[in-house]
This record gives sequence, structure tokens and C-alpha cells, in this order.
Amino acid sequence: MGTALAHRLLSWHRPVARQFAFRATTDPWAVLVSEVMLQQTQAPRVERHWIAFIGRYPTPDALAHASVGDAIRSWQGLGYNRRAVRLRETAVAIVERHDGQVPWDPTELATLPGIGPYTARAIAAIAFGAPVAALDTNIRRVVGRVMHGHGHAADPGPIPGPARVQVDADALLEGSDPRAWTLAAMDLGATICRPRTPRCDACPLVELCRFAAHAAMAAGATAVPRPAPRAVSPAPSFETTNRWLRGRLVEALRSIPPGEWTAIAGPIGRHSQQAIAAAVQDLRRDGIVEMDGEGRARLPV
Ligand code: SF4
Repeated sequence: MGTALAHRLLSWHRPVARQFAFRATTDPWAVLVSEVMLQQTQAPRVERHWIAFIGRYPTPDALAHASVGDAIRSWQGLGYNRRAVRLRETAVAIVERHDGQVPWDPTELATLPGIGPYTARAIAAIAFGAPVAALDTNIRRVVGRVMHGHGHAADPGPIPGPARVQVDADALLEGSDPRAWTLAAMDLGATICRPRTPRCDACPLVELCRFAAHAAMAAGATAVPRPAPRAVSPAPSFETTNRWLRGRLVEALRSIPPGEWTAIAGPIGRHSQQAIAAAVQDLRRDGIVEMDGEGRARLPV
């Protein structure tokens, strides 16, 4: 099944591949930076930030010699600033442990700060062509549906665990170009095999897919399959979240000259002085903020 699936997937992808600047390179450091950015930020938003960041830090050595504060300033617009701190630590580790060269082995990559198993596999497959499937949310959904019918109301089996899906994904990738397969599977998940409304009628895998087969059996071959409905709780307003508050605090610290201390005054939005103090302490523990003896804060120098 793997070869047939890969053939259909890659033939479908060639003319419709999403084009991003970070996909035009196989430079391992550039790929690593893009994958860290893509962990929690969508691809279209990542693109211009990636271009600016790689322009400023084109090698691990360049970022390793920057201050933590500069790395956080250069991360502006991406959010989840802890990633900037971890990325700089990764740059230092690559310089100290790998002579400035990004390692190709996913096991070795996964020992770097902020590089989990998924990111390690994505870097190995995209930059080095290693035959490993990187299971991001999109690819996990595609493989789960194709192989197990996962998510369909008629699905009779247990939900496959991550290890099972990983074994299946590795088998499906076998014999294909890992970079091309990974990018194609990502795009299929993002544009066709969408979480709530899969477009099975436009999918190159429909004849091989167990999810689509369940739907055809349950509702007639012409019906468009739908995932089982999920209960969705209303999301809290973003401005009430700790993430929003942390973002405002880092924005405020970015706006003062490097090295200067500032007192953080509240309230900020609907957050109390107590919540602000707790958020500043969280940022300090994450290495994003430094504090002096008078309770003033700054980005690390
Ligand atoms: S046929 Fe439908 S469920 Fe199966 S991979 Fe394609 S879009 Fe997803």
C-alpha cells in the first residue's frame, strides 16, 4: 500500500505544493529554524519572520554569539517567546557539541533544547532526506484516517496510539523521497484532509482510505464522509489568558533599550497586579526575563 499511496500523494502534490521561502532550501540550520517557528505558528505567518531571522542569524554560530535578549527581540511577531530562548540554546549546543554543524540523526537532534521527536524527524527528513516520517498534527490525522479510519463515527476499532501511527507512517514513506513525502503529507492534511471537513471527493487517497470506506458503507458511495462530531467548549477570551499577558509583558520589555531595567506597572488589560507579578516570575523561570534586586525587569543581556 505504501508505494501506491506515495505515488498518488506525490503526483497530486507536484502542481499544488504550497510555496514558502523556507521550503526553497535544504540548508539544515535554515530548516531547523523554520521547523521551530512552525511548532506553534502557521506557515503563512512564519514566512516573513523566517526570512528576517535567517538573514540576521544565517548560521548556528551567529545565533550562539547573540544575547538572549537579541534573540527574543528578533522573535517579535511569532509569540511563544520561550522558543527563541531554546533556539539560541540549541545554537550554542550545535556549536559546542557538533562543531557548528546541525546533526542529521533524529535521535541526536532530539537531544537539542526545544527539539522534540516530531521536529527532529522533520529536520532529518526535509534537510537530510532521512527515511523517517515526521508526524505533525496534519500527518498524524491523515495516517490515522487512511490506515485506521480514525475519527469516523463508523470506526469500530480502538484509537491507534502514537507509536502505532508512527510505525504505519514510516511504512507508508518507505521507498519515497522523504522530503517530498513529508511536504506532500503536510499539505494534504492542511488543505484536503482537514480536521472537521475532509474533502474526500478531492483527495488522491480516497480509494485507499479506510475513513472514506467507512463513510461509503455507512451512507452510500456518493456521500461525502464527515468526522464524528466532537463536543467543543467555548474558548475563553484571548485577552484573559496568561499567554496574552506574557506577550504584552515581553512587548513592553522589547521597547526599552537593551540592558536598561524597567519597573512593570499594572494593571495590564484585565489582569491584576498579582497576576502580572506571577507572569513576570514565570518569564524569569523560562529564561525570557531577568530581574534585579529592586524587582525591575529586562530582557537578558
Ligand atoms: S479520503 Fe478523506 S479522510 Fe481519507 S485521507 Fe483523503 S481527505 Fe482524509
